[in-house]
Amino acid sequence: MRSVRLRFAPSPTGPLHIGGVRTALYNYLFAKKSKGKFILRIEDTDQNRYVPGAEKYIIDSLSWCGIEFDEGPEIGGEFGPYRQSERKKIYEKYAQQLVDEGKAYYAFDTPDELEQMRKNMKLSGVKSPQYNSITRNSMKNSLTLSKDEVKKRITSSEKYVIRIKVPRNEEIKLNDTIRGWVSINSNNLDDKVIFKSDGMPTYHLANVVDDYLMKISHVVRGEEWLPSAPLHILLYNYLGWEKEIPVFSHLPLILKPEGNGKLSKRDGERLGFPVFPILWENLTTGEKYDGYKEFGFLPESFINMLVFLGWNPGNEKEIFDLEELVQTFSLERIGKSGAKFDFEKAKWFNQKYVRKLPKDLVVKEISDYLAKNNLEFTNDYIEKVCDLFLERVVFIKDFWIEGKYFFEDINGYKFSLVQKRIKENSFNHMQTLCEKLKKIENFSSINVESVFAEVLEEFNLKMSMLLPLFRFALTNLLYGPSLYSIAEIIGKEKTINRIENFLKEIS
Ligand code: GLU
Repeated sequence: MRSVRLRFAPSPTGPLHIGGVRTALYNYLFAKKSKGKFILRIEDTDQNRYVPGAEKYIIDSLSWCGIEFDEGPEIGGEFGPYRQSERKKIYEKYAQQLVDEGKAYYAFDTPDELEQMRKNMKLSGVKSPQYNSITRNSMKNSLTLSKDEVKKRITSSEKYVIRIKVPRNEEIKLNDTIRGWVSINSNNLDDKVIFKSDGMPTYHLANVVDDYLMKISHVVRGEEWLPSAPLHILLYNYLGWEKEIPVFSHLPLILKPEGNGKLSKRDGERLGFPVFPILWENLTTGEKYDGYKEFGFLPESFINMLVFLGWNPGNEKEIFDLEELVQTFSLERIGKSGAKFDFEKAKWFNQKYVRKLPKDLVVKEISDYLAKNNLEFTNDYIEKVCDLFLERVVFIKDFWIEGKYFFEDINGYKFSLVQKRIKENSFNHMQTLCEKLKKIENFSSINVESVFAEVLEEFNLKMSMLLPLFRFALTNLLYGPSLYSIAEIIGKEKTINRIENFLKEIS
C-alpha cells in the first residue's frame, strides 16, 4: 500500500485567502487521519508574480490555525528542497526527456507571431484560438523547422519555450473523489508551455514532477485547478508515471454570502468581514488588511467554521476541535456544490468557543487590555463582569466595546435612544429611585431590585416604563445583562453618580 502523503502547494503571490486555508486544512486533516504526512511546498516558479513576505505569511497563518507540517521549506525533510525556485535543475531534466522522446518540442514564436496567429484564427471564425495539434504546424517550432535550424537557434541563445505535444483526439480520464469520473477530449487542450525562456518550468510541469518526486498520494486542491488536471494526467503518462498518479479531489468554491461567484477580498471590504486569516501588510504597496485573528476570532473557532464550508460530518454535531476533526474528517463527505460564506455563522462559532475559554484566561485578556489603556480594575471585579457578561459576547473585545460601562464613566449620553421614553414624570420617578438607592446599605442586586420594585409600586408603573431609563442611565444602552447585577458590580457610588448625571442632563 502506498503511504499517504499530502501537500499544500501555495504560490507566494499574495496573502493566503481563507479558501487557501481551507485547502490546507482539508489536506492536513486527511493526512493526519490516515496517519500520513503533510507537506508544505512553495510553488514560486512565476517570478513575475512573486510577492515578498507572502511565504512567511502563509506559514504564520497556518501556524496560528494550529496546522503543522511534517516537511516544508523551513523544517526540511527527506524530499527537499521544498521551494520550487530551489529545484530549478530538477525540472530541466524532465523537460529534456519529454523533448527527446518527442512528447514535447521547442517553440521559438515571438509574442508578435503568437498574436498574429490568434488574430488570423479569429478572422477565420475560431472563437478561442489555441496553439494545438493543428496550429502548431504553421508555427516556428522544432516540429516545423529543420534539425539544423533548431540547433542553430538554440546555440545562438535565441529565446525559446518548451511546449507539451498534446495528442490529437484522445480521451483523457480522471477519477476525482468529489466529482467522479471526468473525461476530456485532448482536442480541447492546447500545447501548454511547460518550460519557459527564463529557464523555469511552468506550474504544470513543476507541480507534476514534484508531486511524483515527493511521493504525493492524494492531491486535494481548489476547483479552479480541475481544468488543468487532464494535462497533469497526460504529463504523468508521458513521463511514464501512470502508476503514480495521485488520487484527486477538487474542492468546491467558497461563494459570496449573496449572489453567485467566488468569495473575494472586495466582498469582505463591502460587507465588513475579513477574508484573510491574519493581518496582511504588503510592505511594497502599503496594502493592509486585518485578518480573523485581529477581528477577534479564536483560531479554534475559525478552523471549525472553515471546515464546514464544503464538508459536513453527516450528523448534527457542529463543534469540533482539531483533534476531533482529524478523527471525523473524510474526503467522501465533501460536497460538490459551492459553499456560501456566512459571517453570522462564523460569529456563532466564535461565541461558542469564547464561552468555553477558561475564566482566568479571559480575565487576563481583559485586564491586559485595560492596563494598555491605563485603566485599572481588580481581578475580582473583572471576574464578576466576566460571570455576568461572558454569555453575551461574541469576541473578547466585546467586553470593552459592548460592556464599556463596566470600565469607563459615561461620556455623553446618546439621548436619541430614549427621547420617546422620557415622559413628564420620568424625572420624578428616577429621582425617587435614586434617593431610595442611596439608602441601601448592602448594595446587592437583590436589594437594588426590590428598591426598584418599590418605585414601580409607588407610582403604579409598568416595568417597561422605568427599567429602560434606569438601564440607560447606567449603561447608555437599552439592552444588556441583568441591570440589578450591573448596579451591584459597578457599585453604589457609580450607580448613584450616573443617575444624578442623567437627571442633570434631562432637567
Ligand atoms: N500553486 C498552486 C496554487 O497556488 C497549486 C495548485 C495545486 O495544488 O496543484 O494554488
